Amino acid sequence: MKVRDKEFKVFISEAELAEATRRVAERISADYAGRVPLLCPVLTGSFVFASDLVRRLTVETEVAFVKYTSYEGMASTGRVTAQLPFPAKVAGRDVIVVEDIVDTGFSMEYMLGELRRLNPRSVRVCALFFKPSSFGGSFKVDYVGREIGNEFIVGYGLDYDQRGRGLKEVYVVE
Ligand code: 5GP
Ligand code: MG
Repeated sequence: MKVRDKEFKVFISEAELAEATRRVAERISADYAGRVPLLCPVLTGSFVFASDLVRRLTVETEVAFVKYTSYEGMASTGRVTAQLPFPAKVAGRDVIVVEDIVDTGFSMEYMLGELRRLNPRSVRVCALFFKPSSFGGSFKVDYVGREIGNEFIVGYGLDYDQRGRGLKEVYVVE
């Protein structure tokens, strides 16, 4: 399967993605029972995961998308830009930041700094994918769908140079 100039092959099936999402949703639903967490999915990559996750939660939630970017093509630029920052209404709320993937943790570290300045009641991080071998952050990824190695993946919301987000499975470069 080709996305722009590169050949990709299936890495994680639809069924495995559904199972990972279900497990995360179960844990969040148990941990937040009786509360109404404010989910903050990070655009653009997490829109697919977030839409599946929110439908599997058994607790009521509110949703406020944010957008912070650091990637261009296949590499992190090492500079994070807030295109849609956390809203002031995070104050006093139980916030769950929802990411497609935490890689170096650099973007999340920056986002958490911004978020904490707005005085949320609690903050947790949920990521569908986590790359522990490249992680250098000082925060905990509280909910992880699945750990992966250093491979670059696309599909299920994740892009290769803005393409491939609509793929139902997750793919890796051949
Ligand atoms: P970090 O700042 O943790 O290094 O990178 C976080 C962001 O980089 C993620 O939210 C995601 O947008 C992007 N990213 C990291 N690894 C991958 C990957 O394997 N594939 C894609 N498509 N994006 C990635
Ligand atoms: Mg992202």
